[in-house]
Amino acid sequence: MAQPDKKWLGTSIDIDGCRQTKEALRERERELSQLIDMVPGQLWRLTPDGEPTFFNRQMVDFLGLGVGDTDRPGMSRLDAFVQAVVHPDDAAKMADALDHCLVTGEDFSMRHRLRRADGVYRWMLCRAEPMRDEGGRIVQWYGLCHDIDDQMRAEEALRRSEGKLRELIDALPVHIWSWTPKGKLSYVNKRCLTYLGLSEANFEDLAGVVQELVHPEDASEAQRTAANCIKTGDVFRMRYRRRRRDGVYRWSEGRCEPLRDQDGKIVQWYGVTVDIDDAVRAQEELRHARENLARASQAASLAELSASIAHEVSQPLTAVITSSNVCQRWLTAEPPNIERALKTLERIARAANAAADVVGRVRALFRQSVETRDPMALASLVAEARDLMAEEAARRRVRIDIEVENELPPVVVDRIQVQQVLINLVRNGLEAMESAASDRVLRMCVRRLGGVVRTEISDRGPGIEFPDRIFEPFFTTKGHGMGMGLAICRSIVESHGGQLWAENNEPHGATFIFALPVDATMAPLSQGGPDSVGRPSDAERSL
Ligand code: ADP
Repeated sequence: MAQPDKKWLGTSIDIDGCRQTKEALRERERELSQLIDMVPGQLWRLTPDGEPTFFNRQMVDFLGLGVGDTDRPGMSRLDAFVQAVVHPDDAAKMADALDHCLVTGEDFSMRHRLRRADGVYRWMLCRAEPMRDEGGRIVQWYGLCHDIDDQMRAEEALRRSEGKLRELIDALPVHIWSWTPKGKLSYVNKRCLTYLGLSEANFEDLAGVVQELVHPEDASEAQRTAANCIKTGDVFRMRYRRRRRDGVYRWSEGRCEPLRDQDGKIVQWYGVTVDIDDAVRAQEELRHARENLARASQAASLAELSASIAHEVSQPLTAVITSSNVCQRWLTAEPPNIERALKTLERIARAANAAADVVGRVRALFRQSVETRDPMALASLVAEARDLMAEEAARRRVRIDIEVENELPPVVVDRIQVQQVLINLVRNGLEAMESAASDRVLRMCVRRLGGVVRTEISDRGPGIEFPDRIFEPFFTTKGHGMGMGLAICRSIVESHGGQLWAENNEPHGATFIFALPVDATMAPLSQGGPDSVGRPSDAERSL
């Protein structure tokens, strides 16, 4: 039997595709490993037990060692690694944190220092996450470290300079604070908090508390001024009383300015407050002392003046009385001695003239010398008077408003004397509003009316109680008043050819008005009749 023919069977498998796939896989692996080495961070891998199994090139280059280079006999690779390259101050903490994550499977994140190949420690931010299989079992840990040393140093330097700035701010003997652009309190320095007896525990409430510490009489004005500054961007500047931690109100001066960005938009307000109570009190005492001195010297000169008038007038009057008696005797004699009586009458006339001279001299004291008069703008005198009285007005919580008509003609006056008139009238107005609870405003208004310039000073006090008597010398309703102010004012104004009078306002308050002629010739205003100065006629006016 013939053997069946032996046949060779062959298969040929096309492995080209397989080779190509392997090649592609290798290529991708190479790419991946290049990528891993190029990542600007240190990548590493741990087994589920924490055994380091891979460091990328960056990490090897940074540390100057590879995965196995830190192995120590009798020590886990992880412990040996931590001991070798982690800063001794961070090592224990890091080992604990890693152990904890390996046991619990939680993500790892920590800032610590790693030793670079040159021995220099640098701050790193290290993070690691576990990779799990489908069953949730951890199969690897992958970690990444970032070099944050420069950032940490910058932060530290910033913290240090902030600390120094804060130290400086708290050491300065002023209270420093800031507002947001909307006016919300955003910062108060420690010195201020200590002064006010507050803690910054609850800053939200603090803003309200700080408001409450302003004296009730100053609070609404402070709030109004601040609100206006926030609206307009104007500098806030004000004197007000604040309650210190011991409950005592003390005068302070606050000033706050806006900080703007390049477009001029306000980004924050920065303010300082200084306790000026001692200075204010010293000023007050000085002012009191000055006032007392002025009053004393006024009283002394008035007493002297009265004594000398009395003395000078009484001599000729005594002579008049004596001579009259003598004259009577000569006339009633039998026969009457007319010649002697006439001589005595001459003596009487001489004595009476001497008395009239004394009175004339006293008048001359009040009559002003014309030489010191110059043409000047009343508006500037009024502004000067306001400035001179500003401090007293602020102390009495009175606002002085000025209203001046444009292009007023000059008046020829003695500057000092008209200033004296203005100050007297302003002071009377301020004093009149002493008991007013609110609405303390003094208005000074200058305008032209025909041939005169009228200055009006209106207050919102109770008005004038004795209108018929206020211009009388020595008439006063004040405990410490002299009653000479208005009499002197009237005499000054009249000596300038002007008029001074007063009117009561509706519903309350008083207005003192003086009219001075525009014309330098000084023709007395009375020649033009009451209307020429805008003064109401006797029948019309109440005062
Ligand atoms: P003194 O101020 O010393 O009393 P004045 O001659 O200046 O002297 O004033 C006389 C009086 O006129 C005052 O005591 C007061 O009664 C009254 N008087 C003056 N100014 C006003 C005013 N603005 N409002 C109400 N009364 C006033």
